[in-house]
Amino acid sequence: MVLKIVNYGDPILRKVGRSITKVTPEIRELVADMIDKMHEAHGIGLAAQQVGRDLQLAVIDIPKDIERPSRMWLEGKEVDLHDYMPLVLINPQITLTKKKETDSEGCLSFPGLTVEVSRGYRVSVTCMNLEGKTWSFDAAGLLGRAVQHEVDHLNGILFIDRLTKAERALAQGEIDALRGQSVTAG
Ligand code: ZN
Repeated sequence: MVLKIVNYGDPILRKVGRSITKVTPEIRELVADMIDKMHEAHGIGLAAQQVGRDLQLAVIDIPKDIERPSRMWLEGKEVDLHDYMPLVLINPQITLTKKKETDSEGCLSFPGLTVEVSRGYRVSVTCMNLEGKTWSFDAAGLLGRAVQHEVDHLNGILFIDRLTKAERALAQGEIDALRGQSVTAG
């Protein structure tokens, strides 16, 4: 299927995704196409809402050559996250540490916008994989941030909702311009 990334202003981005009860061939196909689309757009994550589907499904791929550090743990033991990329998150549930970290973030549905967003320092994730099995991992750094950003998408939350008032005021002009473009484009 041909997927198109939807931009800010499209109401699908505010929809809470439906739970996936079974990994069907259609879901597998959608996952493969989302991974292709994410790579084509040079993104590190993509949520179903961003390709017009209201599902609890997101993909993440942290490239090896990226400068920003990431960490990943399985059952408390640190692992090489590149062994687990691309990650497929189906029905993810997360818990965050109280400790926060602020860093820059972009979003494929907001072309050209980069803002500083405060997120949990470390995140624990439980989700379903493509085999329909439930598994858990912990993540920090860029991977932890990507997981939180994508899980927000699955709940209709956008990174601009996470800005401080001051940061939002700084970015408002760019945000309005993006919305204007998407309205003009239909
Ligand atoms: Zn995004």
